Amino acid sequence: MNAAVWNSVRDELRTSLGKDAFKNWIDPLVFDHCDDGVVHLSAPTNFIGNWVARHYGETIRVMLDKADGPVSRLTFGVGRPAAKVTLSEATAAPVEETTELPGSPLDNRFRFESFVVGKPNELAHAAAKRVAEGGEVAFNPLFLYGGVGLGKTHLMHAIAWDLKERNPSAKVLYLSAEQFMYRFVQALRFKDMHGFKELFRSVDVLMVDDVQFIAGKNSTQDEFFHTFNALVDQNKQIVISADRAPGEIDGLEERIKSRLHWGLVVDLHPTDYELRLGILQAKVEHQKRINPGIQIDDGVVEFLAHRISSNVRVLEGALTRLFAFASLVGKSIDLDTTTECLADILRASERKVTIEEIIRKVADHYNLRMTDILSPRRARSVARPRQVAMFLSKSLTSKSLPEIGRKFGGRDHTTVIHAVRKVEELRQTDSQINEDVELLRRMLEA
Ligand code: ADP
Ligand code: MG
Repeated sequence: MNAAVWNSVRDELRTSLGKDAFKNWIDPLVFDHCDDGVVHLSAPTNFIGNWVARHYGETIRVMLDKADGPVSRLTFGVGRPAAKVTLSEATAAPVEETTELPGSPLDNRFRFESFVVGKPNELAHAAAKRVAEGGEVAFNPLFLYGGVGLGKTHLMHAIAWDLKERNPSAKVLYLSAEQFMYRFVQALRFKDMHGFKELFRSVDVLMVDDVQFIAGKNSTQDEFFHTFNALVDQNKQIVISADRAPGEIDGLEERIKSRLHWGLVVDLHPTDYELRLGILQAKVEHQKRINPGIQIDDGVVEFLAHRISSNVRVLEGALTRLFAFASLVGKSIDLDTTTECLADILRASERKVTIEEIIRKVADHYNLRMTDILSPRRARSVARPRQVAMFLSKSLTSKSLPEIGRKFGGRDHTTVIHAVRKVEELRQTDSQINEDVELLRRMLEA
């Protein structure tokens, strides 16, 4: 085991971890020596060493072991100044070496044009569009949150692209919270807090993705808060995303939470059937333009929209595989082929919520007993919650209307249809019902 082996594993890691993570965590490591199956690497800071050990340690060990084993353990020393480190210490502050802002790269596909708007994301989309217009800051910060794969990063990149197109000289800095922390740690390490502060305070628009990541990391949070305040005070736009609402991020300081609430907080709801259908159709259209040979039977897209969970990334993954398959077999993809080709994905996204759970949660929420919901009672105080439970059963499980009817004390499927329509209607006019439904949905999907 020697530095050459380490270099080849590094190259593999670059591909498997992606450019960003690689640059942050692997690139700063230097091979030190190996004895008796223990590989000693050195890291510029303890923090980086610990981080890599915790997150990638086992992966790296296995790769080294395969490349030139046996490797039983890794250690991360600090300090042994590697050539690279000395070099950047000797040069000017790293941020001044480049005129490009040191953000995370923007994905070329994440544009407003390719973002399909539906009920679950229309508010987030509208807010993002508004920010992308630039000019007078409308709401600061814009805080976008929602579950994984619902389009937060897509919207942020779209804002950045749009702003840059409208005003090429605007300093738009987009980066993941992980990158923010990495920059901060580097600045501490290279004693360049001044450069760090200058950089972040000089941008026109700052976008930080996945801020839940810095929760509990106190000094990073602190710095983030100062940057944040400085920019807001200068009337610079800030856009932030997280996987949950500010109030629900454990370990995020109260003062940050409350500051976040000064702006506009909007959530991306889990996708519904219509939105999934829209997204799938757009992707199929797009694919057909690139590859006109691809054929997909009617019904396949509907089937996927119905069966695959709300995470758009999973949806895309399924479609990518189908396209690959279609171009390989050279014939039209029908439902049978789809089920076979995507068996694992379909199994994994089988909805786990049961009708019993729905009934229990709804009963709890309205202070009823489960037997009330199942009973024939028609008093509104019981009938309304029952309808809500039926509605949720339809939208959160893949059970058919007759099956749902049976679970609700042996009711007819027409009763279920009626309930579903009624709740859909009420949600437009009665904000209380709408809130109840959203709250329950979120609890059930959690
Ligand atoms: P998040 O950051 O919320 O986890 P992403 O923005 O990375 O999610 O989205 C995951 C994938 O789904 C991306 O490829 C994105 O382009 C796609 N996607 C999400 N929402 C939409 C949408 N409304 N229209 C088109 N593509 C979408
Ligand atoms: Mg994201």
